[in-house]
Amino acid sequence: MTKPKKGRVFSAARPTGRQHLGNYLGAIQNYIALQENYECVYCIADVHALTTVESTENLRQNTYEMALDWLALGIRPAETILFVQSQVPEVMELHTYLSMVTPLGKLTDLPTFKEKARQQPYNINYGLVGYPVLMTADIVLYKTDLVPVGVDQQPHLEFARETVRSFNYRYNSNVLIEPQMKATEVPKVLGIDGQQKMSKSLDNHIELAASPEETTQRVMQMVTDPARIRRTDPGNPDVCNVFSFHKVFSSPAEVSMIDVECRRAGIGCVDCKKMLAHNLNLHLAPYREQRARLDQEPDQVWEVLEDGRKRADTIAERTMQEVREAVGLPKVMGK
Ligand code: SF4
Repeated sequence: MTKPKKGRVFSAARPTGRQHLGNYLGAIQNYIALQENYECVYCIADVHALTTVESTENLRQNTYEMALDWLALGIRPAETILFVQSQVPEVMELHTYLSMVTPLGKLTDLPTFKEKARQQPYNINYGLVGYPVLMTADIVLYKTDLVPVGVDQQPHLEFARETVRSFNYRYNSNVLIEPQMKATEVPKVLGIDGQQKMSKSLDNHIELAASPEETTQRVMQMVTDPARIRRTDPGNPDVCNVFSFHKVFSSPAEVSMIDVECRRAGIGCVDCKKMLAHNLNLHLAPYREQRARLDQEPDQVWEVLEDGRKRADTIAERTMQEVREAVGLPKVMGK
């Protein structure tokens, strides 16, 4: 018997292609776990990507690679709706209606907009300003109960909630549901430089689908406790990024051993990293096998996305009929 679900969760991520350890530990792992208790709707946000990408040449391939990774890692399409944002165009329509109840100043005051405008002063486009409105449309179109958010994304969700209140007030309706926050601990996963958040653009990432040899090579490049210069120097695991990964991928006995031995120079960084690479490859082996299997039949991945599109579209169209009615627009016949 299937367990009753506690509500609908929605989350979206831009198509960034092959996923890395930072994506896995920071988001995907949580997406997989949420499937146990919630009806999950996961969206590959390719339209959002258009606000910042310079070239769309790889957008389709990146969408495919990301879906492939998510499926191989454990997103279960039989129960979870996995779809591509641009394929459910109702979101653009809802975005337009929501934009009518959103003061422009509120958007240009958002710290994320200011940050993006700083990053790409040559391309401050209209879509970039309206990004939070589109994000709100993404969430509310699917009658979402909960959105998993880390501390840094809370202002975005608050914006979405306020926009829903403005819409419902303006049109004297209760069509749109105010999404609740599902506070989530999003660990900050540092890259192999041990300084900055793991990211492809900084080339400090470890790709999940890399070969065991490539993974080992990347792990061996990881920056350790900077104060440990020679093998005979005692180290401090508390400031070492390698140790942070051991805590996730190694056994409790190995973690305790490293914690003790590093401090008295009983283990060297080379051996410590080799152990991590071994455990990481072991952990990722089933996923890599599954990924290789799925990748042999790309059509299957696209079919999963097509099935997700149909299921997402059914919910979206129902919401939009209610929205059109609330706004005072004619309903679309035959839907
Ligand atoms: Fe880091 Fe391991 Fe080296 Fe200690 S022994 S500094 S935990 S890599």
